[in-house]
Amino acid sequence: MNASTSGKPAGYAIAKAEGKCHVCGKVVEPGEKLMAALRETPLALERLDVCMGCWESFDKAGLLGFWQNTLLPSTARRAMFVDDDVLCELFERLAETEEQGKIYFRFVLGLILMRKRRIVYESTRHEGEKEIWSMRFKGREDKMDLVNPRLDEQKVGEVSQQLGEILNGDL
Ligand SMILES: [Zn+2]
Repeated sequence: MNASTSGKPAGYAIAKAEGKCHVCGKVVEPGEKLMAALRETPLALERLDVCMGCWESFDKAGLLGFWQNTLLPSTARRAMFVDDDVLCELFERLAETEEQGKIYFRFVLGLILMRKRRIVYESTRHEGEKEIWSMRFKGREDKMDLVNPRLDEQKVGEVSQQLGEILNGDL
């Protein structure tokens, strides 16, 4: 495991998966099943890995989402294998966030879901300085707001990478 935090933009902390069970501390081996859980802390989104043995009794209150995962050997960690439904749920649950890092995170998630045609752009409105996109899930009528933080291309790249790292448990 290498904690390569150097080169990450300052100001947005993501606590990454540790490759071991958050509850009992057991090291998770490549190929082993585990549960990945995402929770919100005041400063960041935190990804926790929990072994199957600890999962049932793990306190799931306050989690943004969770999914079953298999820890891949490091060479296979590039692909985003998180289910689209998990991404949609995360997008919806982060709707109320006011914290800048999470707004970035949700915006990039929105771009990914648009590309995957899971959410549809409807219109843009302005509230003061804020640009807000009105979105809806494909097949649903209710609208959701998506704040456009006006990230430049480089920043979108950085946030995408962080998103991939936290969702894939890229250690
Ligand atoms: Zn455990």
